[in-house]
Amino acid sequence: MSSREPGPVTPFQTAVRTLLGELDPEPGREGLLDTPRRVEKAFRFYCDGYHKDPKKVIGDALFEAETDEMVLVKDIEIYSLCEHHLAPFFGKAHVAYIPSGKIVGLSKLARVVDVFARRLQVQERLTMQVAHAIQDVLQPRGVGVVIEAQHLCMMMRGVEKQNSRTVTSCLLGLFRKDERTRTEFLQLVRGG
Ligand SMILES: [Zn+2]
Repeated sequence: MSSREPGPVTPFQTAVRTLLGELDPEPGREGLLDTPRRVEKAFRFYCDGYHKDPKKVIGDALFEAETDEMVLVKDIEIYSLCEHHLAPFFGKAHVAYIPSGKIVGLSKLARVVDVFARRLQVQERLTMQVAHAIQDVLQPRGVGVVIEAQHLCMMMRGVEKQNSRTVTSCLLGLFRKDERTRTEFLQLVRGG
């Protein structure tokens, strides 16, 4: 018996309640009573990137700088949701750019990744959106983004797919046009 006053039930919670009824033979049991509210709270968090503007995230932390050397932030943890199965995919993003007069606070690159990861996604689009957002706001000479991820929709359902990783990349500007830049970037990403 729960003494908690049930709050106003949202359409989201009603939908989760329906889902539980479809999945569990005993959807009214104690352990599931508060599940619709918890699931809504969790999913609102997983998807809060829709409410964030990458221009604001980056734009607040731009600095003038003369350097034209590659800036690379490796191993940015990502957690996202596959839009086909609503199952998590997770892994690492590697984000690089070559400045053209402006640099951005390094932590902001990780935050831009989060803005797009916290949406219903496919990995290919996530990779492109991160690269293009940095290109648009920073106007650098080039941007490179590589994402390596494991998808629970594959890992939990498939046999012998437990260790598969999906790698996607998006290369813009010099990273696309200049072979040396591209090679340098990919070597840095692969190297330990
Ligand atoms: Zn999936």
